[in-house]
Amino acid sequence: MHESSVLPVRPSACPGLLRIVPSRDGGICRIKLPCGQLDARAARAIAQAAKRHADGMLEATNRANLQIRGIHAGIENTLSRELLAAGLGPRELAADDVRNLLVSPALGLDMAFDARRLAHQLLDLLEDTPRFHSLSPKFGIQLDGGEALAMLEHPNDIWLSAISDAAAPLFAFGLAGCPPRNETDRPALAAVTAEQVPLLVETLLHLFLDLAGDGQTRMRHLRETLGDKTLLEHLQQRLPFALQLGPVVDNWRRPAPTAFAHLGIHPQRQPDRAMVGAGFVLGRLDSTLLLGLADLAERFSGGQLRLTPWQSLILPDVAQSDAAVVLAALANLGLMTEAAQPLSRIVACSGSSGCARGLADTKADALRLAERLRHAPPAGVHLCGCPRSCAAAHVAPYTLLAVADGRYDLFRRADGVAGFGQPLARNLSLDAAGDLLAAPGVPTDA
Ligand code: SF4
Repeated sequence: MHESSVLPVRPSACPGLLRIVPSRDGGICRIKLPCGQLDARAARAIAQAAKRHADGMLEATNRANLQIRGIHAGIENTLSRELLAAGLGPRELAADDVRNLLVSPALGLDMAFDARRLAHQLLDLLEDTPRFHSLSPKFGIQLDGGEALAMLEHPNDIWLSAISDAAAPLFAFGLAGCPPRNETDRPALAAVTAEQVPLLVETLLHLFLDLAGDGQTRMRHLRETLGDKTLLEHLQQRLPFALQLGPVVDNWRRPAPTAFAHLGIHPQRQPDRAMVGAGFVLGRLDSTLLLGLADLAERFSGGQLRLTPWQSLILPDVAQSDAAVVLAALANLGLMTEAAQPLSRIVACSGSSGCARGLADTKADALRLAERLRHAPPAGVHLCGCPRSCAAAHVAPYTLLAVADGRYDLFRRADGVAGFGQPLARNLSLDAAGDLLAAPGVPTDA
């Protein structure tokens, strides 16, 4: 491709590596990280690009990716090219949008089934099949190896979950939802062996593209039209093996993950190794911080960094004897290392300072709220500037939805209640919302 040629950009409102989407504070470029992973060299390339072509502000996303914000107008093509040259793009440019595979940040590190090989097979399938490049940029797949550190609340178009930690477990799967954890949750559709997973996913994706009508961009649209039973029949007709049905999936529930396991020090399956996790304040970091993290990773984790769906990161494979030093270094860099810190429990979208749709400055309000809740951090609070809910793909225990500058409606997550949950109060000032959230009776566990 000639240096001055324009990179091909597929129309969408979602940022991508090639599609830099304008926002109130400049352009946004999303860098998709395979399995949330990057190395110190790539981290430095991103930090330097952010410094050179933007205001140096970055965000960790809730799908374990990074994005550069505040990109100056007119340099979009140059920035994309630099990131591609640093190896941060797909092999096929057209595949950038569809590399949406969510895995545990502890993939291959804890005692669960080691799903690394399967994850890379699925990423290759998405990248190497031109037909799949037309999937919506939001179309997502989750591969859950059964890790204790797992995000199980983000609905995905296809989810797969290891039923045991055996060397060759069965994988339960479902469409347009999450692995079931409670008795009342919708059970898995069926199960397949680990070896059958790639063909299952490939067949499901072709089935979706064959059957989806106009405007049906997500699996939930197809489920609503056809229903699970019909979809399963179509799927079985196309597969050369029998799907496993009945009690093996009907009675299976995904064991609960460990709350806040993305923070602090956790042992690995590899002897004498630990993963060390810390969270970015409100998902934000700057290029200086990213450079500091790259240095730390080079010294202690073989240069490896892993982003998480909690807008945080872990350094894997740290020697047990170094883990406390690394955790302290992360805290010194300004990251949150403990669940008890209120900001470990608060997420906020860009709000009015970065987004034209924002009715309130959610980032600034979140900092004020954290200060107010420092003695009584609640289970989890999400501040959003409008109902689009960009910062959280799941429903948080409490949501503050902006209705005007500095004013919010408060909702509590409730079983069977759609949207943000049960409304608790309307048009609250931030201080009044803080008083309600700090009130006795508000759950403080996740
Ligand atoms: S939730 Fe609304 S206000 Fe917040 S970033 Fe998304 S679109 Fe903007």
